[in-house]
Amino acid sequence: MQRDSAELKSSLRLCVLRNSASFVDLKDLKGRANGGWVHYNIADMIQRRPTRRITFGDEAHGFVSIGGDAPVSVQTMTAGFTHEIDKCVAEILKLSAAGADLVRVAVPEKKDTAALKEILPRVPLPIVADVHFHFQRALEAIEAGVHKIRLNPGNISDRSQVRDVIQACKAKKIPIRVGVNEGSIVERKDKQKRLKELGGIFSSDKHGHFLAIMITKLEEYLDIFREEDFHDVVISAKSIDPLLVIDAYREISARFDYPLHLGVTHAGPRETGTIRSVAPLAHLLCSGIGDTIRISYASDPVYEVEDGLELMYVLGLRPRVGAELIACPTCGRIQVDLFRLVQEVRKKLAEEIQLPIKVAVMGCVVNGPGECEGADIAIFAGDRRGIIYVQGEKVANVREEEILEALLKECRAFQDRVERGEAKLGEKKVDILPPDPIGELGSGWGKVSGTALPVVK
Ligand code: SF4
Repeated sequence: MQRDSAELKSSLRLCVLRNSASFVDLKDLKGRANGGWVHYNIADMIQRRPTRRITFGDEAHGFVSIGGDAPVSVQTMTAGFTHEIDKCVAEILKLSAAGADLVRVAVPEKKDTAALKEILPRVPLPIVADVHFHFQRALEAIEAGVHKIRLNPGNISDRSQVRDVIQACKAKKIPIRVGVNEGSIVERKDKQKRLKELGGIFSSDKHGHFLAIMITKLEEYLDIFREEDFHDVVISAKSIDPLLVIDAYREISARFDYPLHLGVTHAGPRETGTIRSVAPLAHLLCSGIGDTIRISYASDPVYEVEDGLELMYVLGLRPRVGAELIACPTCGRIQVDLFRLVQEVRKKLAEEIQLPIKVAVMGCVVNGPGECEGADIAIFAGDRRGIIYVQGEKVANVREEEILEALLKECRAFQDRVERGEAKLGEKKVDILPPDPIGELGSGWGKVSGTALPVVK
């Protein structure tokens, strides 16, 4: 039941506007207003779309579930050669330490699948074999003990070969991701078919044609899995076009109950790839679509993991691990080197703090008090000085060169107190009285007017 391309295209335009699961009904918010303020949490409003749950892994590598009510997992892919065993292991360990739930490796050659036998005993998390063109690589990877297979319908089109892989996975209870990708979706062998497909793509309705090809090929491919009575399937449909990604996943989500692997393919370097990736992924996740994600950068894959996890945290889809850092962008009022300070704080927090302590680094008293009230540990700066607060209580007023160490000292001590049960995260004890910016902060840019907040007894 193929929808025509115009209909598919129009659904994209609509879907950008119809993100009903994450829309906030203003009347509803008014009704829930509490003392003049509205409190809502986007995570409470995200209704995840029900999908099948698949679980894979083993005792040695841990188990990962994708779909159902399992947390949205974050995955990535090694950038180096799989057959360079020590380097590959080192890269997987680095990605695991960064927080990846599973890691994919490319197996283009037999020496890569041969390496898996040595790699698998040395890594702590499930490994996925990324297979293109050669179905034998999938069979070898399965034999080597890999935990999941990724196949691309765009380049293993021989149904008998696909059936062989499915049966091998079935025997070992290994799931398969079926991934269509804009870069390899157009027919390459059959010239007639290729010309027809390219004709659509180079038409004015390129977007709709791509979407139609993606869905058609996915449906054809998934028929093979259904015929083989194999249902441990994860689906992906990636494109470099964020809007096509949104529409493709919405379409797939409406058609299948398989868990979905979200991603924007070939998103570019991190500097630009972040927006290209996060814009559609956040949209889909807020709509309840997506069970695992991979952010793809032309960069160290550690960033893919870090940014994927941060996306989960800010959407409230996973509990935060490690400190949360808030920092002001600085402006003409700044009187310390805040950019340097923020980078140093970020690095140290990642190394030393495991609890989700909220830390605010603010440049001055304009927004400093508000952010510091909401943070567990906070500093706002003045003229080459900084005042440090712990849950709203002022604990130190130090020179600029002492801020980093003084802030970290408070973070470490606070973490220890939380672990001993003597303090609670997110518990504010007092409201902050904005200090006199000319007085104790020694700022020269003038006194801030306004009414001091009342002290909470
Ligand atoms: Fe500027 Fe102060 Fe706001 Fe930072 S907190 S951006 S320094 S006004």
